[in-house]
Amino acid sequence: MTSFDLGRTEQEAFLQQTLSTLLDWYEKGDEAPVGTLWSHQQLQATVADFTYKKPAATKASLQNLMQQLKDFTIHTTNSNYFGLFNPRANFPSILADIITAFFNPQLAAWSHAPYAAEIERNLILQCCQRFGYAEEAQDGTFTSGGAESNLTAIICALHHHYPNYGEEGLFALKQMPVIYCSAESHHSLLKATRSLGLGAKTLQVIPSDMEERMDLKQLKHQLILDEAAGKQPIMVVGTAGTTGSGAIDDLDTLAVICKAHSCWFHVDAAYGGALMLSTKHRRHLSGIEKSNSITMDIHKWFSVPMGISLFLTSDPNILHRAFDVSTAYMPEKGESKKEIDPYVHSLQWSRRFMGLKMHLPLLFFGWEGYEEVIHHQIHQGQLLRESLEAAGWEIKNYSHLPILCFSHPSLEQTPARVQEIVDDIVSKGKAWISTYPIKGQPCIRACITNYNTGPEEVQKLVDLLSTYLRQDSSPDNS
Ligand SMILES: *Cc1c(COP(=O)(O)O)cnc(C)c1O
Repeated sequence: MTSFDLGRTEQEAFLQQTLSTLLDWYEKGDEAPVGTLWSHQQLQATVADFTYKKPAATKASLQNLMQQLKDFTIHTTNSNYFGLFNPRANFPSILADIITAFFNPQLAAWSHAPYAAEIERNLILQCCQRFGYAEEAQDGTFTSGGAESNLTAIICALHHHYPNYGEEGLFALKQMPVIYCSAESHHSLLKATRSLGLGAKTLQVIPSDMEERMDLKQLKHQLILDEAAGKQPIMVVGTAGTTGSGAIDDLDTLAVICKAHSCWFHVDAAYGGALMLSTKHRRHLSGIEKSNSITMDIHKWFSVPMGISLFLTSDPNILHRAFDVSTAYMPEKGESKKEIDPYVHSLQWSRRFMGLKMHLPLLFFGWEGYEEVIHHQIHQGQLLRESLEAAGWEIKNYSHLPILCFSHPSLEQTPARVQEIVDDIVSKGKAWISTYPIKGQPCIRACITNYNTGPEEVQKLVDLLSTYLRQDSSPDNS
């Protein structure tokens, strides 16, 4: 029989080959294109070669695999990637994922991985503290991403409002529940209402104001209308850092409105939550301390590999109420019975030691190291703004985060040109940017997501964009 372990010498050879290829790429990735646009047909054909009929674990096949990943991936690790909150993973967090894969601790039950479980617990409590939750009002769980965190938030709101929800589910509801969010909020909320059996109509989308924040006048108006119509408002979701333009809803006022209407106040701070790392910029999250729950992705601004988010709540009982079950086959708790078994505290059952990829970078850099990175990235955003404005571009969004949505007066008569310019840049692999409409006007969107992006890359992007304006205005083109 072939050994699943391979021999020690073989293991070392494969690891060495993998690591040396990956480290080269990690160091010199900027020399290659950020990516391009690929044809589905080409990719299907490439992958169809894998039939798994014969073992193929050779040096060459491993090299080939890494080459194809290089060739067919948008490299969010490249410092010319100005994209969608997808980071370059810092080195300690990569190390953490390697360590986790080797040990493969099972974090469903505390007693199987007590050290790992307590490291996660400590991180959860420290983050609650940083967001301003009182000591007796701190709880949470690691999740796979913001979508799972937002889903968890809605589940908590349902259990909070309907004590019988666990037993009778939606059949116990006499009134239609309503959840409010802004037009700029994340569509994972829509998926969550649809998959929970609430239906999309329970999600009341409130238009946004001139600065892409939830229009609170309209929210208040809608709440009164819905109550008068016999519906039951149960939850308001404020967004701290919208995915499109980086707007932060007025969390302080939202907290007051939620209190007045007995709504669960959730803050989706998937991206913007990282501002809590900065003593200087934390104030933009003011009001978040009054929330019932928070979504904060770690795999965005914390610059770690995919698959880790935090759901935090100031209700220390709600997760247990929502997820507690008891089984005969799961291991018993430890001796104090106060340990938290993650499987009765969250949606997941078997779970990976996600927290290690937050813990290890924090051990290496500390909160202060993170604060510096956040400041660096915000500063690059400011440089980008100045540089764009100097080149005649107009910034159309309002954000405290390093996200810019912009257009040029010369493009206003030819809105389709915006997408053409972006597609051309992306397909040539010189940078990765996207488009996002602000007040119906197509804009180019660029976000500083990579901690290695510096003044040089910022200027290169602005120069690149300007070449298109010159092409457009050159006499040969008219
Ligand atoms: C990215 C994002 C999400 C979804 O998070 P995933 O980690 O991609 O599941 C939710 N809300 C906001 C505001 C986001 O930016």
